[in-house]
Amino acid sequence: MVPEFRNDPMIDFSVPENRRAMEETLARVRGELGREYPLVIGGQKVWTGGRIRSINPSNNRELVGLVAKATAREAEQALEAAWDAFPQWSAMTAPARARLLFKAAAIMRRRKMELSAWEVVEAGKTWDEAVGDVNEAIDFMEYYGREAIRLAEPHELTPFPGEETEAFWIPLGVGVIIPPWNFPLAILTGMTTGPVAAGNTVILKPASATPVIGAKFMEVMEEAGLPPGVINFLPGSGGEIGDFLVSHPRTRFISFTGSMEVGLRINQLAAEPHEGQIWVKRVVAEMGGKDAIVVDETADLDAAAEGIVASAFGYQGQKCSACSRAILVDAVYDQVLAKIVERTRALRVGDPAAAGTQVAAVIDQAAYEKILSYIEIGKQEGRVVAGGEKGDETGFFIQPTVIADVNPNARIAQEEIFGPVLAVIRARDYDDALRIANGTMYGLTGSVYSRDRVRLERARREFHVGNLYFNRKCTGSLVGVHPFGGFNMSGTDAKTGSHEYLLNFLQAKAVSEKL
Ligand code: GLU
Repeated sequence: MVPEFRNDPMIDFSVPENRRAMEETLARVRGELGREYPLVIGGQKVWTGGRIRSINPSNNRELVGLVAKATAREAEQALEAAWDAFPQWSAMTAPARARLLFKAAAIMRRRKMELSAWEVVEAGKTWDEAVGDVNEAIDFMEYYGREAIRLAEPHELTPFPGEETEAFWIPLGVGVIIPPWNFPLAILTGMTTGPVAAGNTVILKPASATPVIGAKFMEVMEEAGLPPGVINFLPGSGGEIGDFLVSHPRTRFISFTGSMEVGLRINQLAAEPHEGQIWVKRVVAEMGGKDAIVVDETADLDAAAEGIVASAFGYQGQKCSACSRAILVDAVYDQVLAKIVERTRALRVGDPAAAGTQVAAVIDQAAYEKILSYIEIGKQEGRVVAGGEKGDETGFFIQPTVIADVNPNARIAQEEIFGPVLAVIRARDYDDALRIANGTMYGLTGSVYSRDRVRLERARREFHVGNLYFNRKCTGSLVGVHPFGGFNMSGTDAKTGSHEYLLNFLQAKAVSEKL
């Protein structure tokens, strides 16, 4: 009997014992840095000549690990292995497949502190963000396991005299999974185990900034009893193996989370059929955001400023759900801006390995340079009222930056920066604020701070985003509670952590017999 799904609890680091345990775990993980990790193809560990170097974003001298790098040759082998495993895996009952996920969730739960510590050193997550990510990975497996069982139930059909009918879901085949580095365990786990729970087999290409956490996921799956070939672990460069796998005629579906540019390129590559291909590839792409928080004159202004700062600078603003535009109505603009600035300046920026750090370094050199160049653009497009410079150079630190008086059409108000940069925009009134909020090509998350019921109801209908929040921050969706995914250029609205998600990786078969 599978108990009802519940989200895994956070670890309370205000408890001294928990704090000590995390410090000890971090020290232990530090002792394991610099190790090498193989590819996994058909259950076999495979070493190649190339290595991906993973470094600590907050301390660039620290090598987190070296992960074997695949070439097209291994990609071809992985496709072969995944197709070899498919008949047996897809024929297993849904409860049997779900059991693998439940077992892996239990292992992650036992290793929560350790996996969180890896997130601190490899991804630059603060403690709470790290635990949140491990929790979400656990939640995804618990949730998708249950969903696979539910979806194995026969469909309801209209009875027809003289025929016996049935319809049921079957998996698609072999998929390529390309997750992002920003939720290196959660999103990777959800994107991989969802399709697998549904009976597919996959090739997992982890993000090159966080491949060690990908290798830890494989350790967990192996310990849980993953049959060979069901998940093939294939770190490598997007240009080399990503494109190869996406274009390959034997790839049945692609699930991607990352930037709009890469998502659109994948969609285009996947659309082109190749010699021997016998299907239309399915593409699930979760892409960017230019998410806004609207504040009107009836709102609790302190709560609004707090929600904006948490949404803009949590994990250094590197969430596709992050608030990158604060849209404040004229009547309270100066007041809310002052509160945002005060809270931003008070953020504790530093090494995420230290308890209490709230903002750490951004992920890598390329992100660092891109974000700093957007800050320079922002200096032309508005008034820097907090931050605006790089930080400590032991890592990729950038000061949490607030740029005020930004035109809604300015580049920093339209383009996804994916870093700790907030554009503050003045709206004439609530009408104007909603119009500005909807005025980008994206539509992922958004939030409204207001006490006016009529206005909230209007936003419910008109604010065109996949995840809309009222009087709370616009980040931190929970599996099962907030089905996650966006509109327009934010992606295909796959709604992770929802009853619909596994349907992205299934097709329905209807069978009818004349009696
Ligand atoms: N689900 C996450 C949140 O609500 C964001 C996921 C992402 O950045 O891709 O904050």
